[in-house]
Amino acid sequence: STKKAKTAKKTIAPAEDVAITNPEKIVFRKEKITKRDLAEYYQMITPLILPYVEDRPLNLLRCPDEAGKNCFFQKHMTGKATDNMIPVRIKEKSGTKTYLTVETAEGIADLVQMRAFEIHVWGSKAGHLEHPDQIVMDFDPGPGTSWKDTVKAAFDLKKILDKLDLKSFVKVSGGKGIHVQVPIAPIYSWDQVKDFSKALGEEMARRDDIYTVSIAKANRNGKIFVDYLRNGRGATAVAPYAVRMREQSAVAMPISWDELKKLKAANFFDLKTAITFLKKRKKDPWQGYTDLQQKISILKPNVR
Ligand code: ATP
Ligand code: MN
Ligand code: MN
Repeated sequence: STKKAKTAKKTIAPAEDVAITNPEKIVFRKEKITKRDLAEYYQMITPLILPYVEDRPLNLLRCPDEAGKNCFFQKHMTGKATDNMIPVRIKEKSGTKTYLTVETAEGIADLVQMRAFEIHVWGSKAGHLEHPDQIVMDFDPGPGTSWKDTVKAAFDLKKILDKLDLKSFVKVSGGKGIHVQVPIAPIYSWDQVKDFSKALGEEMARRDDIYTVSIAKANRNGKIFVDYLRNGRGATAVAPYAVRMREQSAVAMPISWDELKKLKAANFFDLKTAITFLKKRKKDPWQGYTDLQQKISILKPNVR
């Protein structure tokens, strides 16, 4: 397919009429949010979300009904994609599968039209599938831990990353936790990046036993699970600015480290407050993210 002009301006766009079917259909019942509302949200934030979604294999949470009902993840393409979606063939253990990518505003609009309201992305792009260009550290608070603990976890990781001269960016997931992202040069293998992210988690666990990198649910009581597994080949994380399809709407909102200190919860931003917040926002806290090509090395044992 031909490459279309990319949206250059990284501010929010005014709402315009979006061509969608069943625009009045309710998606979030309690908030009376319709498919049109979601289409308008995504249209408005397209210049913001596109840099974090473009050319990445997608994992889409599609909701044929209302949010929280019968939603399903779709990684592989079935049937025919639209002209705005670019198929990418990816080798997996079970054979070569076709994934979807988008690279334009029209592509984002098509995702909404197919009710793929929650957009998750790979850590690499179609042009360099075997070389991830970002690290996502996903903090999952276990039972008996607080929001404050989760915020501290993000800051504790930031401290380690700062020592390693790695600039990091933070977003609330829209669910329960926080994601810290580190853009890197796409020159490392999946294994190298996963090993590095695991070492980060292990260093955190070594410093404070509130942190664990253990996957077993039984070991998570009173612990923050440092989910470094988002960094494996084929793993995905929710895209910045994506809407979460839980019972109530929530946005995976990129924020500044200062804003994180004051924030009350990971699902603080619903669709309405997210729009207000973004319209008022003066500075993009993730500015420079996509231009940073940071180098990682083996984690030094003493980075304090
Ligand atoms: P929370 O803050 O509530 O943990 P989260 O987005 O971090 O929200 P996780 O449960 O930690 O959610 O999951 C991490 C990621 O793993 C998801 O964002 C998604 O990309 C991927 N994922 C989770 N469940 C599935 C699934 N059933 N199929 C495909 N991918 C999934
Ligand atoms: Mn999580
Ligand atoms: Mn997780």
